[in-house]
Amino acid sequence: MRTPEDELRELDSHDLLRGLRVVSSPRHPHLRVERREVLNFASNDYLGLAQHPTLTEAAIRATKDYGTGSTASRLICGSLDIFHELEEHLATVKQAEAALTFANGFATATGTIPALVGRGDTIILDKLSHACLIDAARLSGATLRVFPHNDLNKLEKLLISGKGRSLVITESVFSMGGDLCPLEKIVALKEQHGALLLLDEAHATGVLGPNGYGLAEELGLQDRIDFQMGTLGKALGSAGGYFAASRQWIDLLINKARSFIYSTAPPPSQAAASLAALRLLRTNEGQSLRDKLKANLSIFRSQILDLESPPPIIPHVVGDNATALATSRALFEQGFLVPAVRYPTVPKNTARLRITLTAAHQREQIEDLRNAINSLKS
Ligand SMILES: *Cc1c(COP(=O)(O)O)cnc(C)c1O
Repeated sequence: MRTPEDELRELDSHDLLRGLRVVSSPRHPHLRVERREVLNFASNDYLGLAQHPTLTEAAIRATKDYGTGSTASRLICGSLDIFHELEEHLATVKQAEAALTFANGFATATGTIPALVGRGDTIILDKLSHACLIDAARLSGATLRVFPHNDLNKLEKLLISGKGRSLVITESVFSMGGDLCPLEKIVALKEQHGALLLLDEAHATGVLGPNGYGLAEELGLQDRIDFQMGTLGKALGSAGGYFAASRQWIDLLINKARSFIYSTAPPPSQAAASLAALRLLRTNEGQSLRDKLKANLSIFRSQILDLESPPPIIPHVVGDNATALATSRALFEQGFLVPAVRYPTVPKNTARLRITLTAAHQREQIEDLRNAINSLKS
């Protein structure tokens, strides 16, 4: 019988072993990682909200008012008003009839997708979709069809041959490539073929669109997308996942989504911080944080200035795992935390550095990182 040790050795021999590094006292973008001060270019806290006083105060106030835990599923113990306030706000900003929140984005996918489709239905999924979308699709029992990344011709062929309810699943900003899906064309195709569309806005929420509500907001497509989901844990600096849809779909999810029904509701402080973050997005401060992020991104990639709101993820593909790891280690030695992302998070032979910039970085810090990467290349 294979032991865990065998498996770990096997991972290590392919440069695929992962481990945790202890961080103390984060002060974004500064991190203390195992007694070393480094600059954090790995976080998804794109606006720097995770340590924002408005969010921390909202979380503290909610903890004082409601306590630290929700103590049961929302169907069992009653559903705290603060979750409803958050969900009403989410529905409004998503131009949807209703919204439902979950403990995190992963639980949102695994709870909702198997409730939307099942045996006899078809899921049509972009090949580079996030692991939680793939797991949820498998869990649903629907027939799973995968199209090559952003390949509209193949998507259309699969839409023509889909059986039962057809659900197209894609992301607005892809989490490891930082590129966008061709949303307008996907919406037109799904409408033409009478399919449903689920758009995961995990890395666009807070960042894209005039108010930071996502790519669908930017393109004015919110009311034409059946299911808009995302996380409250990245640019919104809190934790949780959301799912916005018509009232009837949300009512069905309250009855069918297993990660909602059979799991303790998240702490009230999580909802309070999320609500504070959403409110902050459309203030002048929210706008200036997005402007700062865009300015920071343009230091790295000048062509970014052409985009209305550029995605905050910059992949630097090196190919093999060993080179990606060695580059990441060399950057760490120079005081930069930039993760090497390897298979299965990205396809084989596309190992990369995944650089994320935030509004909290200073120009010189970004220039220093760019110079360090360029000098490693030469
Ligand atoms: C991070 C991520 C999720 C999961 O959200 P969590 O709140 O972190 O669980 C889902 N989808 C995509 C595309 C993501 O990048």
